[in-house]
Amino acid sequence: MSQVSLNLLERSRAVMPGGQSNFREAPGMVPTFLSSAEGLRYRDVDANEYLDFTLSMGAALWGYSDPEYGAAVTDQLSTLLACTSAATQTENEIRLAEALVARVPCAEWVRFGISGTEAVQLSLRLARGFTGRPLILRFEGHYHGWLDNIAGGTATDARPPHPDLAVSGPGGTAGRAHTAANETLMIKWNDLESLEAVLQAHSRSIAAVLMEAIMCNNGCCPPMPGYLQGVRELCDRYGVILIFDEVITGFRVAPGGAQDLLGVTPDLAVFGKALAGGLPLSAVAGREDIMMQLRQSHVMGGGTFNSFQLAVAAGVVTMDKLARDDYAAYDRMSVLQNRLADGLRIAAEEQGIKALLQGPTGVLFAALGKEETAYSPDDLIDIDIEKTSQFRAGLKAEGIMIAGGNRWFISPNHAESDIDHAIACAARVMAGLGGD
Ligand code: PLP
Repeated sequence: MSQVSLNLLERSRAVMPGGQSNFREAPGMVPTFLSSAEGLRYRDVDANEYLDFTLSMGAALWGYSDPEYGAAVTDQLSTLLACTSAATQTENEIRLAEALVARVPCAEWVRFGISGTEAVQLSLRLARGFTGRPLILRFEGHYHGWLDNIAGGTATDARPPHPDLAVSGPGGTAGRAHTAANETLMIKWNDLESLEAVLQAHSRSIAAVLMEAIMCNNGCCPPMPGYLQGVRELCDRYGVILIFDEVITGFRVAPGGAQDLLGVTPDLAVFGKALAGGLPLSAVAGREDIMMQLRQSHVMGGGTFNSFQLAVAAGVVTMDKLARDDYAAYDRMSVLQNRLADGLRIAAEEQGIKALLQGPTGVLFAALGKEETAYSPDDLIDIDIEKTSQFRAGLKAEGIMIAGGNRWFISPNHAESDIDHAIACAARVMAGLGGD
């Protein structure tokens, strides 16, 4: 096995607490030490080559050496070499904001940042500032970054739910400010009755309902038919700001994100990841009257590197490329993803293994041991976790890298032959797992 990687792991462990993020490798796996990347493949320091479906946790929309994307970033870099970040405004950021306003239904105004985590926090502050209310309502299984008020949590059927539950349970963290428990409530998603009950009980305290409109961080669960429309109506009735966290779905599932795909417009939306195709850039977009608070400094938001010029140039070229030929990139991703899902399904059937394959354009969740559509974390309980982990590990051994949470991120630059190769590898791995 990978001697150079093991050496680097030892050196890394001497100076770093588990690498640079708690989310990058499945437990027990030797982390990938990157050496080079090209196209949709990367190589580690032991010269193992991987066909990549992690796409940098969904951010690297074009893979790693798209010529047009690379040229735009390189041009910007050479223009900027003397001045990479002057903390001024630029015409490019206006172009990018214009592109967002043109394609994202809720976007009247836009504010750029660096990470999805901070953009989520800005959206929450805007909602609190606008409504004058203190609480955020969120949902079990959704991920909105790693900060105190939105990490982890459990929902119960208790009505109204106890605020402490929103900060205890899976995905939580020690060291959290004790006040975090006073900030959020958590309920189950895809359950309108429960939402109505909690909005009724806290009608004067809830500023915002925050959700992934498609639960891409947990099984890529879709909203049930009519659910988002019901959420929209309830938010209007109770004067609550509806925020869609589109850090994964944004610019990946449809030109204007999940809200465009599903036809329900939130008041605010948060973007990151694919927005700049692999460079750090995030955005909050939404209603002018809510965003206006920033202009008037009623709500404060800052950041030395906000609208980081290299990433903004990457964002502009990403938006241009996505819009080309009437947004053909989405058809391309959809064709590739259907081919992958069909191939994995057939491979599983041949081995007598049940496979759950679901997800919007651009991200496919694949787990074993179950096949009915999952709408919530409860529906994911009967997945065969061991077999699914063995599947992921086996794929890695075959040179296929998929993202945490058993997700396959698709790039318009994947080739049909990449998909067919991945299916052939998956079939070999499944053959070694045994039927259900
Ligand atoms: N929101 C969602 C839906 C995410 O998936 C993520 C990251 O995976 C975040 C927010 C946090 O974004 P970042 O990692 O850029 O801080």
